[in-house]
This record gives sequence, structure tokens and C-alpha cells, in this order.
Amino acid sequence: MITITPEIKAQLDEQKKQCVFCKIINGEMETNKVYEDKIMFGTLDINPAIEGHMLMMPKEHYPILPYVQQKDFEHIFGNLPKIVNALKKAMLATGATVFIANGGVAGQQSPHFLIHLLPREKGDKHYLYLFDKKKKLDAEKAKQTTDMLVQGLPGFIHSDLKTKPIQAKTAEFLSGIKSEQKVLYEDDKVLCVIYGHAQCIGHIAIYSQKEEHLFEKLDNDSAAHIFRIASLCSSAVFNAMKSQGTNIILKTGISDDNPDGRLCIHIIPRFENDELKLMWEPGKKGDLKKIASKLKDEMSYVEYELKEKKETKPKYDLDKAERMVKLSSKEEHKPAHEPEELDEIKKAINRLRNA
Ligand SMILES: [Zn+2]
Repeated sequence: MITITPEIKAQLDEQKKQCVFCKIINGEMETNKVYEDKIMFGTLDINPAIEGHMLMMPKEHYPILPYVQQKDFEHIFGNLPKIVNALKKAMLATGATVFIANGGVAGQQSPHFLIHLLPREKGDKHYLYLFDKKKKLDAEKAKQTTDMLVQGLPGFIHSDLKTKPIQAKTAEFLSGIKSEQKVLYEDDKVLCVIYGHAQCIGHIAIYSQKEEHLFEKLDNDSAAHIFRIASLCSSAVFNAMKSQGTNIILKTGISDDNPDGRLCIHIIPRFENDELKLMWEPGKKGDLKKIASKLKDEMSYVEYELKEKKETKPKYDLDKAERMVKLSSKEEHKPAHEPEELDEIKKAINRLRNA
């Protein structure tokens, strides 16, 4: 995570003035809003790859993922399973793709960091992320990069997380992946390997030790953690390979380019003219207003849930408080409170109950 110094803050404030997405978030520009809470904002993409293609972004202006500060990061990625779940429900989808572009060469089109969310299903004929199994890479160079990552990545991750990793109790379904792919990093939540069918040198795959198929089944901590590791892997390949950008692509559930429905995050370093085709052509637009209203309905449950969580009722034992008031009002000799005072307390208890 990049520390935002006063100099960087001044630069970002300048960038913000020209930012279309900041204008959308502030309500200065119209949009098909589908989600909003204190920290994040969701809207439909006006040039969707697929029906229901939505964008989720922090309200704060961050240019790329490494800038997103801890609190926002945890809120956005920790709650992303709920958002993906709502998106799937609204669009009756069996899977989803989460796509992040860091840098222009990776397909980033605006200076405001955002996440593309695509509802997916079998038969949707999107084969963009059905990776070529026979891709030939420079073996010597690939080995050098792998060695460099094996040596450097765990230390890089540990120093950022500032915690001792919990030893992995590798789930059985991951043992197959482990034996055929070079392990870079592992803890109790994630397994990080050099991808077996790498599309370029430095192509990393991250699997969840908690869940084989569905991202939306992950709890807040596990979801935020897997994206923290993805972000660190992305920074690591960016720095180590001097790449010009990176893509982070999460596949979850069954779709045409994820036939086994496995949950996996791919980290792909990007270079100018690398001939990787990871961006979609704009697809059928559909009725954006209608789609937005469908999504909004499902997303409103998430909005409500997160709001409830934030404003949890105080942990007073109201029943006990009421009994105490009654008790003290019965005590003739030593009233703990004057009658008016008791009334006030009763009213306060009722207010709390109704809050
Ligand atoms: Zn912005």
C-alpha cells in the first residue's frame, strides 16, 4: 500500500477536479447507480461487455489499487462477496468475473480506480479468460522470474502484512494444483503459485484454501485477505519485472471460460504490445434503466445489511435495565431515582428499543 504523503494528496486533489467518476459519485453527472454506501459506489458500465456489467469503486479518488488505503480496501474487498452474490442473483448468473486494470496498457480507461463486475453463465460465449494451454514461453526467462519470485515474494508479503503467517493446512483439493505448479506463497487462507498454463512470464494464480468454487461464500476476512495477497503479487511482478501495468482477474463459478467453476485470481503483468487480449469488445447494451433497477433491488439488501452492521444497537441489556427501574421504583425506603427521573429512564429505554 502506498502511503499518501501531502505531496501525493495534492496531486490526487488536482486529478480529482478532472475526474468523471468523482463527478458521477458527487451527483454532478448522471449515471445508472445501483449501489452506494459510505465508502463505495456502484453503477452500470455504459459500454457493457455483457448484460449486467457493473462498476464498483471507492468514493475516494485513488488512481490505482496500491493507493487504496487499508480501511477502504477492507470494506470494499471484504464485502465484495456480498456484491457478487447480489449481482448473480439479479442476473440469474452461475458465475462472475471480477476484472481490475492497473495502468493504461492493462486497459485502465480512467484515473479513478474501479472494479469491473461481470455476471457470467454457461453459454455466454465469452472465452476471453479461457487461457491457452499450449502457450510457449521463453523457458530460461520464465525460470529466472519464477526463482526471483520464490525468493522474494514471501518476504515482501510478510513485511506488508506485518503478521506472522499462519501455517497452511492445505486443503486436499489444492494438492493437485500444488504438485504441478510452483508454489510462491501459502498461508491458511490462500495458495499462490506460478500458473500452470501461464499466458506470459510472471503469470500468477491465487487459490483460496477456504473455498474451492464460489467467491461469494468467503467471509469478509478471507475475501479481503485474498485480494490483499493479489494486490501484493501485482505490485511484486510490477516492481520485479518492471512491467507497465497489471491485470487482476478473478473467476468464480461456472461460465464458458471457467468450465470447472473453480475460484481463482490471476495476476498478469502487462507490457506495451504484449499481444495479450484481455479486454472485451462492447457487447449488447440492453435496457440499462431496466437492468439497473433489477440490480438495485438486490443490492439494496446489501446496503441495508452493511448499514445495520455499522449502526448496531448499543450492547445494553435493556430488559435488565427495565427490571432495575421497576425494582428501584418499588423500593420504598431507598429509592434509587426520583419518580420523574424514573420516567425519563423508562422513556430512554423505549427510545433505545425503537432505535
Ligand atoms: Zn475520481
